[in-house]
Amino acid sequence: MKANCWMGRNKVEVLDVPEPGILNPRDAVVRVTSTAICGSDLHLYDGYIPTMRKGDVLGHEFMGEVVEVGPGVANLRPGDRVVVPFPIACGACLACEHGMYSLCENSNPNAGLAEKMMGHSPAGIFGYSHMLGGYPGGQAQYARVPFADIGPIKIDDDLPDEKVLFLSDILPTGWMGAEMCDIKPGDVIAVWGAGPVGQFAAAAALQLGAEQVVSIDRFPYRLEIAGRAGALTLNYEEVDVLDALRDITAGRGPDACIDAVGMEAHYPVAAVQAYDRAKQAARLETDRPHALREAIMACRNGGIVSVIGVYGGFVDKFPMGSFMNRSLTMRTGQCHVQRYMKPLLDRIREGFDPSFVITHHMRLEDAPRAFEMFKNKEHYCNKVVLSPW
Ligand code: NAD
Ligand code: ZN
Ligand code: ZN
Repeated sequence: MKANCWMGRNKVEVLDVPEPGILNPRDAVVRVTSTAICGSDLHLYDGYIPTMRKGDVLGHEFMGEVVEVGPGVANLRPGDRVVVPFPIACGACLACEHGMYSLCENSNPNAGLAEKMMGHSPAGIFGYSHMLGGYPGGQAQYARVPFADIGPIKIDDDLPDEKVLFLSDILPTGWMGAEMCDIKPGDVIAVWGAGPVGQFAAAAALQLGAEQVVSIDRFPYRLEIAGRAGALTLNYEEVDVLDALRDITAGRGPDACIDAVGMEAHYPVAAVQAYDRAKQAARLETDRPHALREAIMACRNGGIVSVIGVYGGFVDKFPMGSFMNRSLTMRTGQCHVQRYMKPLLDRIREGFDPSFVITHHMRLEDAPRAFEMFKNKEHYCNKVVLSPW
């Protein structure tokens, strides 16, 4: 079968690889009908996440048709259409019992590797390095889905792929980012990053009752999409973000700040340092604002900083003084996708259409070009959906 493989920094290639089969009783094999490229894939592409190996199959946002199930999967049968959540979770451990699916204690066979780097191991993730399980991803014609009896959600035939695909990751992630803000009537929420995740976070914050959402980025076409979702927009290349947010909030600052940027901020990350010291030195010279630092500084006293942007290693110059003295709270995490799939599918059924983030439909074979476009923001690229067939 064809699969999009990581081949080193800034290099992916569509290669012929063996088709997956059932390995465990709770596995299913899915014939992928749609798969997307995520901002998180860019961290791999940029070489920020160690423990990738040449030939690893990428992709953690995918859906398709079940073609085979193991004897332990009673709820699915061949022919079912499913969306697959990106964290692999057993559904039965302490973390899963608490709905913290991205922290599943039973889904990372390489937990030791993750523990060495992070102290403890989170869940395994499709197509996201050996430290997170080494699972082949879904930018492929077929994918093996472990714990298929609890993860995938069934989709009726009347909903097209593009309306439901993002239940796999970015729609729940945006929702969780907003939910972590404990939004109350009258709240102003600021969102750093108007990529697809930030756009969904902005939409979710409004749906959860925010009075105003402010979306911050430097790409006008992305800000426009966030604007259409209801956000007020700030281009950080044109205005001083901290001043502008003060003006909007009578000097207090937003009630909560969402970081939907993560490592794109191109700031010192120790994991990168160990990886490539020369590139790291170059990055130190950047004068681009650091989203997380700005989010902390902007947040009103006693407010919440919700971090859904992905980080690795250490982030330097964290403004701990501002954070501590102003009683801020930080909430963060890889999304516990399984928790949100059903309620968000209900919202889609009621009329919410997440396909507004899509700008490009391409073939899986074109993944190398699609990665370039998505990373470099060429051709107004906001979100790419790939078709493997
Ligand atoms: P993206 O790369 O398309 O978007 C990131 C946006 O941030 C870009 O538009 C960029 O211009 C903007 N940006 C960069 N620096 C900025 C700054 N200083 N201030 C404001 N904006 C800035 O990525 P995406 O797909 O939207 O994902 C966003 C982040 O969310 C990534 O870090 C990704 O890894 C993460 N993510 C997290 C989860 C999770 O479970 N927590 C799930 C999916 C994605
Ligand atoms: Zn993702
Ligand atoms: Zn579990």
